[in-house]
Amino acid sequence: MADLNWKPHAIMISFHLQGHIIPYVHLAIKLASKGLTITFVHTQSIHQQIIKAQSDNTPAGTDIFSEARTSGLDIRYMTVSDGLPVEFDRSVKSEQYWESFLNVFPVNIDDLVGEIVRREPSSELFLIADTFYLWPEKIAKKYNLVNVSFWTEPALVFNLYYHLDLLRQNGHFGSNDNRKGTIDYIPGVKAIEPKDLMSYLQDTDLSSVIHWIIFRAFEEEVKKADFVLCNTVQELEAETIASLQQRQPFYAVGPIFPTGFTKSVVATSLWSESDCTHWLNTKSHGSVLYVSFGSLAQANQLDIVEIAHGLLLSEVNFVWVIRPGMVSSDDTNILPVGFEENIKGRGLIVPWCTQIEVISNPAIGGFLTHCGWNSTLESIWCGVPLLCFPLFTDQFTNRKLVVDDWKIGLNLCDGESITREEVAEKISHLMGGKSLDELRKETKKVRKVLEDALATDGSTEKNFDRFIKDVKAKIRQKHEDRPSNHS
Ligand code: UDP
Repeated sequence: MADLNWKPHAIMISFHLQGHIIPYVHLAIKLASKGLTITFVHTQSIHQQIIKAQSDNTPAGTDIFSEARTSGLDIRYMTVSDGLPVEFDRSVKSEQYWESFLNVFPVNIDDLVGEIVRREPSSELFLIADTFYLWPEKIAKKYNLVNVSFWTEPALVFNLYYHLDLLRQNGHFGSNDNRKGTIDYIPGVKAIEPKDLMSYLQDTDLSSVIHWIIFRAFEEEVKKADFVLCNTVQELEAETIASLQQRQPFYAVGPIFPTGFTKSVVATSLWSESDCTHWLNTKSHGSVLYVSFGSLAQANQLDIVEIAHGLLLSEVNFVWVIRPGMVSSDDTNILPVGFEENIKGRGLIVPWCTQIEVISNPAIGGFLTHCGWNSTLESIWCGVPLLCFPLFTDQFTNRKLVVDDWKIGLNLCDGESITREEVAEKISHLMGGKSLDELRKETKKVRKVLEDALATDGSTEKNFDRFIKDVKAKIRQKHEDRPSNHS
């Protein structure tokens, strides 16, 4: 295999959640811009949902990467069935969905990878799959492919899941009465409180399919990956990353954003995006609070009502993304009576938007967030301080990084329950009170860390290049080690 004549070809199979799809598509673009060939795969149902979300009647068969290819990127696009008809309601019949996800989808992936391997020079192929998948090791082994795991959350979260055994041994996880004291024995983590662990580790009922998937992914699957790519920044999580690197090749390649931090040329959104720009352009600099709890989290209806009243009391301008299904109740009218009339002129409610466009508008001065990892990175990039209202999964851990470690955000609520008075007070602190200068100063510092990492000689660029060099060496080694190559 002559070095100059071959380029690695990544088969990338995306995970069905919005917060995974967005960085994964941009990872594909980044790797292609570094000269790799990519075959990007969505499930048919995700493909359909993305196409449906386009406002311009995009035909169902559209290749979402066609525009990206016009700039010379070698990205092919395929879809695969997750085992269920496209029109099947995956959120309502979730049990059947997970059943298919675990048992049929991997078989379809196996067939698809087999088909690509037969068609392409296998000596160039490798696999990049989401860390939450449970089939990569088996499929990589079957087709003799290098196996790369892509982690879309902070390294700290990865590290905590990675050490489930230590948490269990020390009584902080897995019992009906988990220990309350500080956790100070995880390599690479000085100290963390149990309340800051991911929700899946704090739960007492661990019997759901999601728990099962996560625990298996970390206890069995990811430890066998050849490489791990993480959407974080080396300098932000240096100790954690250094500790993980002693166990496995681990590369901090974040923040992974669309080129130029503008609306992506590849459609990634699962829902139609409302335009907020016109409205935002009528508002003064830094006067608008952006409120969004991401694509998945469900809030308690009573908390939403308190947040709504808090917004009214605070008197700030706001854009609030209220996604259908955001509240864990069947009630479609989740806001207080008369709320929408009361906020006329200063509040805009939308079901979904192009978040990066909204938060990069100069009118935005703060972000009331669920602390999703993509939202956190995007907000830092825009220099926008955060007001944190974590709801589940990694969001509690991300809150710790934002508020306690980096000091770029405030907690929405310091006690047990949310009150409208506290919401209003915290919003005022974030948007103009005594905390603002300090928060802005710290946010600028962290933004500079991201900027430096993305510079030509920055850690992210270097880590990308090192990863590509290491993948090439590993692919070559795999093929040279094959018995047929020794004869
Ligand atoms: N997002 C968006 N429009 C919205 C809300 C969110 O485009 O109205 C994007 C946001 O920019 C981010 C992703 O959806 O990239 C959400 O990811 P995150 O990790 O923040 O939260 P999750 O949805 O995974 O909980």
